Amino acid sequence: MWPASRRCGTRDTDDCVHSFIAIKPDGVQRGLIGPIISRFENRGFKLVGIKLVSPSKKHLEEHYADLAEKSFFQGLIAYMGSGPVCAMIWEGRDAVKTGRSILGATNPLASAPGTIRGDFALDVGRNVCHGSDTVDNAKKEIALWFEETEIQSWKPAAFDWVYE
Ligand code: ADP
Repeated sequence: MWPASRRCGTRDTDDCVHSFIAIKPDGVQRGLIGPIISRFENRGFKLVGIKLVSPSKKHLEEHYADLAEKSFFQGLIAYMGSGPVCAMIWEGRDAVKTGRSILGATNPLASAPGTIRGDFALDVGRNVCHGSDTVDNAKKEIALWFEETEIQSWKPAAFDWVYE
């Protein structure tokens, strides 16, 4: 077992968090699982959970509960349930905030080149990936999508080359 106190090097362990990142059905269908995983690996983040899921309508409605009143809600639920989703947990320093910056803006047209959405998407309704927006939401989303036993604790060989 890799101790939580060392997960992100010698800095305050409050910085070391998990983020829930999902590759949406369009990302899976377009063969973007590999490229998206590479972006997180290349940055130095560590994959601690991954699976392909066909989420139920009820599961998706819970995941997006805060958007229930939006006009695009039903379309969003249909889109997210239209094929397998690649659900992942990434661990590392500031993983939620930095994860969002790796993803880019919600609307791909507003996403900078070099971000996932800025490089791989054009339509807000087909923006290929999801990332938790706060540490609290990351905890809720991880609990919704994963069992405790599906989350790994391990030390990558490159750990001491990523963190001082
Ligand atoms: P994010 O995914 O960046 O956290 P939101 O939580 O605001 O963004 O929205 C959740 C998802 O709903 C977006 O990723 C996108 O797939 C979809 N969405 C957001 N706004 C719209 C919109 N105006 N039209 C269609 N789909 C939208």
